[in-house]
Amino acid sequence: MQTYTPMTEPLLKAMQARGLFVETHVHFPGLFTPELTLSLGIKNGWVHGHTGEVLRPFAHPKNPYKHYSELFLAGADGKGALVKDGMVAKDLRYNLDPRNYPDLKIAFDIFDRVYAFTHSHRFGEGAVMQAEDVAAVMASYLGQCREQGLRHTEVQFNFTMADHVFRDSGLKTPEARQHALCELLAVVVEEYAKHDVNLAFLHCFNKTVISGIGDDLEERTVRAADLVLRLNRDFPFVVGIQSAGNEDMYDVEKLKRGYDMVRAAGLESGAHAGEGRGGPHVMKVLDTLQLSNLGHGFRAIELDEAIAAVREAGMVLHQCPIVNRALESKLKYDSQSGKPHAEGEKRNIGEVYNHPFFELLRSHGVRVNICSDNPGFFGSYEEEVRAMTGMSVAFPKHVKPLSFEELVITTLNGVMASAMKEKDKLRFANDLNKFVVAWQDIQQMPTGIDYGDHPLLERARAERMNGGGKAGGGAAAIRR
Ligand SMILES: [Zn+2]
Repeated sequence: MQTYTPMTEPLLKAMQARGLFVETHVHFPGLFTPELTLSLGIKNGWVHGHTGEVLRPFAHPKNPYKHYSELFLAGADGKGALVKDGMVAKDLRYNLDPRNYPDLKIAFDIFDRVYAFTHSHRFGEGAVMQAEDVAAVMASYLGQCREQGLRHTEVQFNFTMADHVFRDSGLKTPEARQHALCELLAVVVEEYAKHDVNLAFLHCFNKTVISGIGDDLEERTVRAADLVLRLNRDFPFVVGIQSAGNEDMYDVEKLKRGYDMVRAAGLESGAHAGEGRGGPHVMKVLDTLQLSNLGHGFRAIELDEAIAAVREAGMVLHQCPIVNRALESKLKYDSQSGKPHAEGEKRNIGEVYNHPFFELLRSHGVRVNICSDNPGFFGSYEEEVRAMTGMSVAFPKHVKPLSFEELVITTLNGVMASAMKEKDKLRFANDLNKFVVAWQDIQQMPTGIDYGDHPLLERARAERMNGGGKAGGGAAAIRR
């Protein structure tokens, strides 16, 4: 029987101080806070740093914006000065107001339009114009990781961005440019390590026509796989592959060959699915790609067979409920019972307590974990945790917020599904359990956490039995 300990401020702070959190699903373009995007815009000469005046317009013919300043809002009416006398507006925010986008109907499309500018990928115009800007973004994110107790994070990053940031460098080939970018990232990774944050990168490409590449998806995926294998040889922090984009707009079979290459090399393979499409698609993706982990996947809950497939594959589903709330993610619900159902009607999930996260974890035995996806836009990892544990959101009576015990278990799920080295995973599991035991002793709580048969803890236990327990906390530290 699992005990239920509500999360509290001291408990959260204590976990953070010991680096007991892990991020397994976050996008590089999602790391940009509005302030950071504006400061890079100033640095790159789009906007005047003292007056906020627009210095030059965007030039790309397909760019839907004319000026960098259109990416932001400030002031109650949204029309306030972004910068005044060198000071950034206190209520600076991204321009995600639907009234400013009469041509777009879906919250995701509005987000995507702004998002494309953070990494300047689509039109070559935006916040990142030089390689040093990539480093600046990563430096700013390091601060967040430290404050929030993230011991490991793996960032989804499109390495073809090297062509953009080294466009004037004289480096002749894409391979040379990617290599140069990785040399810079190697320094960043070292800096993270100095602060006890393990940083890894997954090469993430868009699997739909939105990318504007216009090639065959199978070739694109194989190219992405080649890139991952090549970079991983010299830069082990490039740990695997990811693909994103509208789930209605691609054929999963076309991803198979590239994903097989990455898996055969023993590297990580993740994909986004089950966010925009339901259970049958989730099953198809799992069956075809044999992933190490699945981004979102919550719409598996509409179909019993899909839930079973996720569970049987031992798949960890990366959940980002405050992002889903902001982007108005939908689920099909049965009109009679109100329960998720494949034949039901689609409607917004809404507040985080309605998120399938809780049912998947509590009723279906599916392994889930908490991720931030796009922390600069919708809220940091910590804010996701605060929302799900009821620290920042008032839950209705019929749903209990995520407890301390459940947070520990979902964090272990994240560690297990992460790209950390096995010895670091075991150390993390031991540290987390040691913390649980110590905390419960201090609070004089009688029972330990029921971890069920968590595979990571089983491995940690086996390792100690074999005498490799130096990294851990002694045989008594892990209780069932
Ligand atoms: Zn994502």
